[in-house]
Amino acid sequence: MTKDVRVRFAPSPTGPLHIGGVRTALFNYLFAKKHNGTFILRIEDTDQNRYVEGAEKYIINALNWCGIPYDEGIDKNEKFGPYRQSERKHLYKQYAEELIAKGHAYYAFDTSEALDAHRKDHEEKGKTFIYNWHNRLKLNNSLSLSTEEVQAKLDAGEDYVIRFKSPQDETLHLKDIIRGEIKIDTNTLDDKVLFKSDGMPTYHLANIVDDHLMEISHVIRGEEWLPSLALHYQLYDAFGWEAPEFAHLPLILKPTGKGKLSKRDGDKLGFPVFPLEWNDPNTNEVSRGYKEDGYFAESVVNFLAFLGWNPGTEQEIFSLEELIAAFDLERVNKSGARFDPDKIKWFNHHYMQEQFNEDLAEAFKAQHAELVDIDNEYIALVIGLVKERAAFVSDFWELSHYFFTAPTTYDEKASKKAFKDGTKEILTQVASIIEANKDFTAETLQNEIKGWITSNEIGFGQVMMPLRLALVGALQGPDVFDIIYMIGKTETIKRIQNVITTL
Ligand code: GLU
Repeated sequence: MTKDVRVRFAPSPTGPLHIGGVRTALFNYLFAKKHNGTFILRIEDTDQNRYVEGAEKYIINALNWCGIPYDEGIDKNEKFGPYRQSERKHLYKQYAEELIAKGHAYYAFDTSEALDAHRKDHEEKGKTFIYNWHNRLKLNNSLSLSTEEVQAKLDAGEDYVIRFKSPQDETLHLKDIIRGEIKIDTNTLDDKVLFKSDGMPTYHLANIVDDHLMEISHVIRGEEWLPSLALHYQLYDAFGWEAPEFAHLPLILKPTGKGKLSKRDGDKLGFPVFPLEWNDPNTNEVSRGYKEDGYFAESVVNFLAFLGWNPGTEQEIFSLEELIAAFDLERVNKSGARFDPDKIKWFNHHYMQEQFNEDLAEAFKAQHAELVDIDNEYIALVIGLVKERAAFVSDFWELSHYFFTAPTTYDEKASKKAFKDGTKEILTQVASIIEANKDFTAETLQNEIKGWITSNEIGFGQVMMPLRLALVGALQGPDVFDIIYMIGKTETIKRIQNVITTL
């Protein structure tokens, strides 16, 4: 890379950050880190009608939770600030006017009623109304009006927008790192609005001006912005600025592979589509988040990295450091990436195994009132025994309740299978072996009981099944001797006696 890598994530604070937005942020982050570059957060809040309170904070929290914080942006290394476009408002108009002076843009005074009428008229004839080279001279703008007329309108404070004058009969050669070269006939483009009557720039103008002023080297963003690329190229050209390189990331598709994954799909399909829970300030509606649903940030990051990218090897488990080392925009696919909610569970199961049992113990304790008085160390040991079967902290209770409370019922099917004639006598014997065991370690218990089984020529299952049933209430769980060791002698004997009297 010859120039300094400076990339930006530029969300609009219109609500919670969609999981696809997190993927865009992640790819920017990985690319920046890979090339010792800078990852910038810019808030694109020029559309005041769509501004949502709390969304900016949510975006920052989400990046921090994922472990992909920005290097430069609001309240951080503000070299190129401000980083909120609303605070850069004063900057944009001069650029729009510069384009007018250079003949690349013009004032347009068409009222929204007039434009609506044109649209309707076209629709009735089965056509689409496009404001561009073929009709702009018949419309109400500074190209069709005289200089005096234009000045009079401006002096009178009439509402106007500034439109880009898209050239005629040219072929644009756009470059995208992921898609290669894209050819566009300028005659198909419309004269996009750059500056609005409310004194605010549109996304296009603000985005280009800021990418230029912030010295952005690479623009990495979602495929939905690909149709804007032609205009953005032309704007760089019109200003006489060097354009950054572009990479448009593939769409994220619904689990069925059909159609784009939308913000609404989470509720419909039963999995979160947001990194963190979101409480909508206007509707008070709460949307689920991956964090609150019990996913680890590592799982979300590893999963998102594979939405549209792959390392070209069989390896699926990647730490953030490994992702940085392996990431390459050239290996990002063009075609849409299917969102598979089962795959992220699979990652969570994997990353569960890497968590510290002590941390998990705290999280587990916070979920269950039954555990308040239990030692964290004991809980951590229990977790160590069951976590290979868990994907979430919320799975722990189901997998381990018998370490904390004695079974009150016994699984019916299991009881039938485990309890036969003679079982009670066997269990009584086992109880006395346990009672007499001195060291009380899982190992000595196992040696003594297994030795007794062998010397008495009893079937292994005839002993171990009812013993497990007594301790767990079902035929599941980790090694029986680990369970005995953990719950202790007195409790073990009590449970054996209980199953004998109950069944
Ligand atoms: N504000 C745009 C968005 O919300 C940014 C698009 C871009 O990165 O250019 O996604």
